[in-house]
Amino acid sequence: MEQKTKDIMEKIKATASIAAEAAGKAAEAAGKKAGEVMEITKLNLQIFDLNTEIEILYKEIGKMVYNTHAGQDVSAEELELKLNQLDEKREMAAAIKEKISERRTQNKCPNCGKECDKDDSFCRTCGAQL
Ligand SMILES: [Zn+2]
Repeated sequence: MEQKTKDIMEKIKATASIAAEAAGKAAEAAGKKAGEVMEITKLNLQIFDLNTEIEILYKEIGKMVYNTHAGQDVSAEELELKLNQLDEKREMAAAIKEKISERRTQNKCPNCGKECDKDDSFCRTCGAQL
C-alpha cells in the first residue's frame, strides 16, 4: 500500500514539474508582465501541490477509517497525525488562495506600474487612464 502511495506521489510530482515548465514558458511569452504572472503561477502551483497532498491524506485517512470498520488495528496516533497534517495543508492552501485574490484585485497603472485604488479611473501618480 505504501509503495503504491509513493508511486502515485512520484507520478504527480512529475506532472507538476511539467506544468511548472509550461507555465514558465507562457510567462516568458507574456513579456513585461512575466514577473507578475510568474508570481501568481508559482502560487497556483503551490496550491496544486497542496491539493495533491490533501487528496492523498483524504485517501489515507479514509483507508484507516475503513480498516477500523473492518476490525483491523489502526494506530490512533497515526490517524491523528494525518488529520493534523490535513488541517495544516488546508490552512496553507486557503492562505495562498487569499494571496492570489489580493494580487488579482490590485489595480496597477498600465503606464507607470504604481498600484492604484480599484475604483480610481485615473492613476494618482502619472494621470494615465486606468
Ligand atoms: Zn501611472
